[in-house]
Amino acid sequence: MLYQTPRGTKDILPDESHKWQFIETRVRKIFHSFNFREIRTPVFEETEIFARGIGQTTDIVQKEMYTFTDRGGKSYTLRPEMTASAVRAYIQHHFSEVQPIQKWYYIASMFRQEKPQAGRLRQFHQFGAEIFGSPEPVADVEIIQLVMEIFLQFGLQQPTLKLNSVGCPKCRLSYKELLRKILRPVFDQLCPDCRARYDTNPLRILDCKRDSCHKLTEKVPGIETYLCEDCKSHFQEVKRALTTLSIPFDLDKRLVRGLDYYTRTAFEVVSSQLGSQDALAGGGRYDLLVKELGGPETPGVGFAAGIERLLMVLEKLHLPIGEMIKPEVYLVGLGNETSTTVREQALKLRRQGVICELDLLNRSLKAQMREANKRGARLAIIIGENELQKDVAILKDMAKGEQIELPLSEITEYVLNKLGKPGS
Ligand code: AMP
Repeated sequence: MLYQTPRGTKDILPDESHKWQFIETRVRKIFHSFNFREIRTPVFEETEIFARGIGQTTDIVQKEMYTFTDRGGKSYTLRPEMTASAVRAYIQHHFSEVQPIQKWYYIASMFRQEKPQAGRLRQFHQFGAEIFGSPEPVADVEIIQLVMEIFLQFGLQQPTLKLNSVGCPKCRLSYKELLRKILRPVFDQLCPDCRARYDTNPLRILDCKRDSCHKLTEKVPGIETYLCEDCKSHFQEVKRALTTLSIPFDLDKRLVRGLDYYTRTAFEVVSSQLGSQDALAGGGRYDLLVKELGGPETPGVGFAAGIERLLMVLEKLHLPIGEMIKPEVYLVGLGNETSTTVREQALKLRRQGVICELDLLNRSLKAQMREANKRGARLAIIIGENELQKDVAILKDMAKGEQIELPLSEITEYVLNKLGKPGS
């Protein structure tokens, strides 16, 4: 039997992991420049955290969670997203008492039992950030500027920022009533999911992907005119700040996060380079979530972006995605006599950060040189028995074919110079 990865999951093989490292390193650097610090949480949590945190009526909770009962009879779930876990950590470690403003980021795998397709997996990877403790529009702006800056620094010129406000429970109430009133006459034409949403969460009908539902909601007015004064001025301030910062956005009345504790700002970043799964990132404000999960009233705002999707766009646009590591120096030894010296020389160089490779198959000089060439090493260091006797090595520039003889004690300095490396 040939075992395979589970459906909707992928191996990241050694000849592509450099792309992931490239993205992670760059993203981490940008997070740090905005003074966000990393949070790592367990990959599974008590199921209730997600059920309450994401919302009972959502697709994630109803259809997509990987939930299991452990031997002690407790129900756990592999995290389908990070915000609920971050909120659990914020409450558990009493951050509101220590320093209520917390700026956290994460880079982690998520798990959702979705129908796999291009850009949609069952184990996928996200980077994202959360700001706890500020109700102010500047916090929304910091999050949006951060996510747009990340995409910009990867060379994406024009990902579209879609923006909306979903108000607060107070102003949403009258909007929900309006939606129900408009949709009542066409209720039977809604898809089964939307019929269920009609009572529980009519806002979600607006973002149903089915054409038929889309058509039925075409004429529905946006929530904006129904926002209460506070929500309206919050939204206006976010829009004003984005405009003055030259961060363009498209208002999108269909953009709803759909959960009762999501409040005010909702946004998504989409790319025309992606097919039907065109979202690169999504985020918004969740002022009621910390309280919902048992903590003190604490506002929050955050985003999450899909690494697989970003990678798809970078590859499509032929933008830089890092380079696979390859040996800079290949050390060629001859026989047992020289193997200790070769290995010592390699370690000296490796300690200076030089990528070294040496033969592990006791091959002939010719075979080792061929291998050095094949692996793309810039330099070969050859230590045969003659060289060993004289305490020297032959250094060969693989591209130019030139070679010189050097005392062993001078090799490290010479190699560092030749490679233009500072040494460590
Ligand atoms: P969400 O938490 O659903 O708003 O997702 C945030 C981002 O994660 C999306 O914009 C996608 O880029 C990415 N994403 C969500 N679900 C998946 C999935 N099943 N496979 C790959 N990427 C995903």
